Amino acid sequence: MPKYIEINCKTACNRINSDFLPFNWDLNIYRGCEHKCQYCFAVYSHKYMESNNFFDEIYVKKNIVECFEKQISSKRWKRTTVNIGGVTDSYQPAEKQYKIMPEILKLCIKYKVPVSLSTKSNLILRDFDLFEELATLVPVDIACTITTVNENIRKLLEPNASSIKDRFNNLKEFSKTNVNTGIFIMPIIPEINDSYENLSTLFKTAKENKVNYAITSILNLRGETKTNFLNFVKDKLPHLYNKIKAHYKYAYADTAYKKHLYGILNKIEKMYPLKEKEIVYPACEENDNQLSLF
Ligand code: SF4
Repeated sequence: MPKYIEINCKTACNRINSDFLPFNWDLNIYRGCEHKCQYCFAVYSHKYMESNNFFDEIYVKKNIVECFEKQISSKRWKRTTVNIGGVTDSYQPAEKQYKIMPEILKLCIKYKVPVSLSTKSNLILRDFDLFEELATLVPVDIACTITTVNENIRKLLEPNASSIKDRFNNLKEFSKTNVNTGIFIMPIIPEINDSYENLSTLFKTAKENKVNYAITSILNLRGETKTNFLNFVKDKLPHLYNKIKAHYKYAYADTAYKKHLYGILNKIEKMYPLKEKEIVYPACEENDNQLSLF
């Protein structure tokens, strides 16, 4: 059973300076994440806490709702998109108990804050009505990370996250609203989930569920993630250990592998093209003209 440690934060949203991301602010309610993905890229973030147990010691920012309102009600706040949970999943099991997301979403509705969010949990459907309402006012983007169509592999890779079926169901439900829906097929891991069959089935199922876009990315093994992940492979999938390790002399997969995989993905993307949907908002007030889909 994970331990929840309540803390106070100074600010809710942190600024991100990136030319590549479609948002400048990131809000994380939790530090640490119970989903326990074997490839977790965020374990480094616990080094700022007095804990090295990223998966079982979860820090909860108890005052984040008040801090968020203070930030977004300020005259200086430019109503740009807030990415919710860029480091850790906002709908991890702790959220069942703390119920912080509904309060954040109510503020987004009150101050018309555009939102993007990705999750691996079906707990997001608890807040369906709030997202639905927000998406009639401002751009809302919800993505689910789905890496495999094999539930046994999913249980190995992401033991505490929702099932594949539940994650596709999230997308299906939100596709009935004004929400822009996406699938994050990441990380694609050599030898584990990179087969043509797996990737094409993910795209096909996304299309059947009216998902609007897909983003793919190959596994990166930076910092301690490399040791953690390779130890997991050695333990649970020992027959793949040498093959996977050979692709990761450095933190990124080798160039020949990337070229091979992009070839497969290009073919699949042409076969199952996903379509951005047209989203209609109510007639804008003068100040709302700046709102756009990221
Ligand atoms: S959901 Fe994201 S933050 Fe949570 S364990 Fe998985 S990869 Fe890490």
